[in-house]
Amino acid sequence: MDGDFDLFVVGGGSGGVRAARIAASLGARVAVAEGRSWGGTCVNRGCVPKKFLVMAAEYGLAAADAQGFGWRGGAPRCDWPALVSAVGREVARHAGIYRDLLDRAGCTCFEAEARLLGRSEVEVAGRRVRAGHILIATGGEPVRPDIEGAAHLLVSDDLFTLPELPARVVVWGGGYIAVEFASLLAGLGAEVALVYRQPLPLRGFDADLRSGMAEALTAVGVRLHPGATVAAVTKAAGAYEVRLAGGGRLAADAVLAAIGRRPNTGGLGLAAAGVAVDGVGAVPVNGRSETNVPGIYAVGDVTNRLRLTPVATAEGHALAESLFGAGRPDFNREAVPTAVFTTPPLATVGLTEEQAAALGPADVYISRFTPLRHHLTGRKRQTLLKLLVCRETGRVLGAHMLGEDAPEIMQGIAVAMTAGATKADFDRTIGIHPTAAEEFVTLRTRTRAAGAG
Ligand code: FAD
Ligand code: NDP
Repeated sequence: MDGDFDLFVVGGGSGGVRAARIAASLGARVAVAEGRSWGGTCVNRGCVPKKFLVMAAEYGLAAADAQGFGWRGGAPRCDWPALVSAVGREVARHAGIYRDLLDRAGCTCFEAEARLLGRSEVEVAGRRVRAGHILIATGGEPVRPDIEGAAHLLVSDDLFTLPELPARVVVWGGGYIAVEFASLLAGLGAEVALVYRQPLPLRGFDADLRSGMAEALTAVGVRLHPGATVAAVTKAAGAYEVRLAGGGRLAADAVLAAIGRRPNTGGLGLAAAGVAVDGVGAVPVNGRSETNVPGIYAVGDVTNRLRLTPVATAEGHALAESLFGAGRPDFNREAVPTAVFTTPPLATVGLTEEQAAALGPADVYISRFTPLRHHLTGRKRQTLLKLLVCRETGRVLGAHMLGEDAPEIMQGIAVAMTAGATKADFDRTIGIHPTAAEEFVTLRTRTRAAGAG
């Protein structure tokens, strides 16, 4: 193939690194440009450091719970600077692993921003580079709202390097990031207010889980402000005053705006290459990650579809295989499991009750119980499990859980659903006792019917 490289990958995050490694392993000459830090959002400012902070919060809650099991000792306090530096070290180690993986695969790595100059030409580190194929894997960045006092707002990127844990935090937003940070900051000891414009957090998730999440957040001490939005933030006596639209004021030491992320396409030279973007700046692609320009592809968050790390890596992998290998079947987009890492977490795969009902008659099975451990700890925490079953075929259309270990449990349920499991398959599976997961195979009594018919 003509050019310096067979594939030039713009962005060394989850999707780009996977595509580059697989392509190189298939014999392609590959270059990758990363303008910020190897591993991208997930490793440096997302999944990995976030999960460490969630774990930190869980230790505090577990220490309190241990009293119910006979443990004695004073209430521990989290040393935030120690936590932040431990997380920072691990993140740097992780980013180094990503860079090593690329080096060992034989990729050429540029630690610089890249810009498209045309259909098969890229500018990087002062060089013009020609490539047979170009992959846009530039991810996204937090939306910074344009309100009065916007300069006072933090975004999720900032949370991982704060010098101290703020005593009072207003979190603005009701999606994944807002809910996860509200929960972990409360678990670490901050006073947290969550301001979101819907009646319940997590629009798009199953309604029962959304109400369960509102209860769970309240139980960890988060004060909920549904149906509200932030109009302005002003500095007042070393702290902030948050003005809500329609009235209401909240005092805070930090205000986190978590009202969405936008695709990273500014200054990328897409127009020069003729690559179309949509109204929010995302790059539309077809099922083979092809953009409107032959030879230019996009994967991951920049396409603004399912914005999850395993989806970005699966897309990058599939693309590399289709360009340089024998091809690889696409993954099951119908049953992509996902989790929200609150305490307790929520995890889900497949359709919500509303979506299932829209397709036809469905049976709804729900179990709600106090987890065994909390009979001793006295903590007011409920586990909620839910299965949605197609009445006609018996297939499980959706599985949802809010409760301890939900993400770990849901991974296996997603395999079953990808394999087309029916409720009868769940019923003839033996449970593991005593666990919460066994409830998924012992749901015998239908809670209600949904959908027409
Ligand atoms: P990214 O990982 O964002 O990588 C894009 C890379 O491109 C970046 O490193 C960027 O610096 C680089 N780049 C951009 N422009 C250029 C340029 N012009 N030249 C060179 N380089 C460039 N997902 C989960 O599955 N589980 C989670 O628990 C989870 N938690 C999250 C928590 C937070 C706080 C956030 C923000 C996200 C979380 N996500 C989670 C989402 C996940 O991080 C993303 O879906 C994933 O990182 C997308 O991968 P990507 O390769 O598309 O983009
Ligand atoms: P989300 O899309 O999940 O949530 C955005 C939130 O901001 C919604 O509550 C939305 O409200 C609200 N919002 C948007 N615009 C405004 C506005 N103008 N004023 C007030 N509120 C507004 O985005 P996140 O930034 O939380 O996360 C981005 C993506 O990253 C997620 O969708 C997810 O794919 C991924 N992610 C995954 C995680 C995981 O896997 N655990 C963790 C973190 C992120 P409304 O619902 O009313 O539109």
